Amino acid sequence: MRGAPSAGPVGSQVDYRLARNAIISEYHKGRLSRLDVCDAHPELLRAATNVGQETREDCPICEQTTVVLVSYVFGSRLPPSGKCVTSQHELVKLARGARELACYVVEVCPNCSWNHLARTFTVGSRRTVST
Ligand SMILES: [Zn+2]
Repeated sequence: MRGAPSAGPVGSQVDYRLARNAIISEYHKGRLSRLDVCDAHPELLRAATNVGQETREDCPICEQTTVVLVSYVFGSRLPPSGKCVTSQHELVKLARGARELACYVVEVCPNCSWNHLARTFTVGSRRTVST
């Protein structure tokens, strides 16, 4: 893929697509209700509306709109609840000053409140191995 943005050194990435698809399949089988899967926190919904990164993927639950991605980072100098990152540029800047940051990308539907962790990865100037 050409032209993909490079965000500097990226550590191990974990993709949660399998877990996500399992939940969607449970929902379609009727084993989970809409209330079970569409439980986004109001703060998360607000972030999705204001700073969510648009995708071309339809919401798997309501199929009314496309889902957006909201990114949070956690690190030693950041609030315990994490910091919402609004752009790739901001993430690069944060990563530059930190030893290591854990980044969580959450998929959110602003229409029906569906939400699921999409992936997590670590960024930072270097990865340290604890002794
Ligand atoms: Zn939806």
